[in-house]
Amino acid sequence: MGVSAAVSFGELGLVPPILRALEAAGYARPTPIQQAAIPPALQGRDILGCAQTGTGKTAAFVLPLLQRLDADAGDDPCLRALVITPTRELAAQIGESFATYGAQLDLWHAVIFGGVPDKPQITELRKGVDALVATPGRLLDLLQRGEVDLRKLEVFVLDEADRMLDMGFLPDVRRIVAKLPAKRQTLFFSATMPDEIRKLAEGLLHDPVSVAVARVAEPIERIDQRLYFVDKGDKRRLLVDLLRRDDVRRALVFSRTKHGANRIAEYLGQAGLGSAAIHGNKSQGARTRALEAFRRGDLRVMVATDLAARGIDIDDVTHVVNFDLPNVPETYVHRIGRTARAGASGVAWSFCESEERPYLEIGRAHV
Ligand code: AMP
Repeated sequence: MGVSAAVSFGELGLVPPILRALEAAGYARPTPIQQAAIPPALQGRDILGCAQTGTGKTAAFVLPLLQRLDADAGDDPCLRALVITPTRELAAQIGESFATYGAQLDLWHAVIFGGVPDKPQITELRKGVDALVATPGRLLDLLQRGEVDLRKLEVFVLDEADRMLDMGFLPDVRRIVAKLPAKRQTLFFSATMPDEIRKLAEGLLHDPVSVAVARVAEPIERIDQRLYFVDKGDKRRLLVDLLRRDDVRRALVFSRTKHGANRIAEYLGQAGLGSAAIHGNKSQGARTRALEAFRRGDLRVMVATDLAARGIDIDDVTHVVNFDLPNVPETYVHRIGRTARAGASGVAWSFCESEERPYLEIGRAHV
């Protein structure tokens, strides 16, 4: 990309209150996607960003967005920026980014997503917000009920567009887009650019600046990947042995099914290893509690299905375990990308039983 490693956040054109917040967050230097996206975004350009979670893409759109909102904030908050993202966890994390990076600014934001009562969200919205982070379904619902007014919108961010496609949200996204003012700044982020996503981007963006960071090569190089050939019946014992190692500070174990995730967590519990399982059958409250405990370090192990783990942003996951091998290489890459975040190194262990050998062929490029 031709960006020098020595650039500072200040040189990107960010204002002092944002720089102070970044310093307080412990960020020393912008990541490549931040170096590439922030200056043109601050100039008001549309951005087509090709970057996956773990690259610092959230700050790449939140920082310029906050600066724009701050530059001409009125006395009362008025909804001028909207971020839509596919999952509740991502929405919550983006909300946290707003709080962290905007700590020294006089701006208000709200986060809305489905699966929880809408009353508290409506209460927040009615108080007035400058920015809204939302998942598509809940946003459409509250739009239709007149609780969200997009007429003054200036900046629209579409995060993880390819996941929106995977999860069947594109029709909802199109309905939301139809309600946006035509004159606006649009920041579009996706880890991959399949045809459908590229077409969507073309329709949404006006003369965009394309920014991209190498998709998988960079983090993956820092991951120590190991493969264990193991009999099906021995997987759980092997897992317990490996998780007992001292260097396992935070481990994310992937199971292909919800039921499997529960069984693994139960077995770990019996072996005296505290863990929690997160998957779609768990309530939002249970998922949030498990994530918090994992984030704080009270739980060393979390067992998750691929869908539940999407977008989980927890730094310092030291080990990723593929208890079941995924059957598509993309999933493998997504899974192990949960470790080695923000410059750290990480370890990925994959268990392969005889029935899973066919999947290995696909994964060979990575293993
Ligand atoms: P993201 O790709 O937005 O999910 O960010 C991945 C992780 O990197 C998050 O935990 C961020 O808090 C962290 N992060 C983002 N930008 C920086 C930076 N410039 N320096 C250090 N950490 C960062």
